[in-house]
Amino acid sequence: MSALTRSPDPGIPDLPGWALAPPDPAEAEQLRKRILTHVLKMPRSAGACWLWRGQRDGAGYGTIRIGGRKRLAHRVAFEAWRGPIPGGRPLHHKCSRPDCVQPWHLRPMTAGDHNRLHAAKRRRAVSTTTRVAAGDGHR
Ligand SMILES: [Zn+2]
Ligand SMILES: [Zn+2]
Repeated sequence: MSALTRSPDPGIPDLPGWALAPPDPAEAEQLRKRILTHVLKMPRSAGACWLWRGQRDGAGYGTIRIGGRKRLAHRVAFEAWRGPIPGGRPLHHKCSRPDCVQPWHLRPMTAGDHNRLHAAKRRRAVSTTTRVAAGDGHR
């Protein structure tokens, strides 16, 4: 594995303490390889989005089958690189791209904080332009 895929994104700071070790290194490694076959890194530099080019759901989120179950690809990517999602919380896309699965673009947030953040983003979008669909990354 290259250092690029493992090192935290220096450009987008995250809350400290979220970088948990995956529970089973061999399983996580296999999952990482599988995820990367569906990913387009744009551009190829540290901190760039990893755009999902596999199956997507109606909202634009990548999906992947794990053990017969369809799961959201960005959540699986977070688990594969960073470990279990604390409390199964919503993951916020800091880059606002629902099809991005870059693990360091995802921030676990409480549902309340997440909703407030998106409400604030929507208010800003509405105040700057009259009608902007607030289609920024959610879930
Ligand atoms: Zn991204
Ligand atoms: Zn969000």
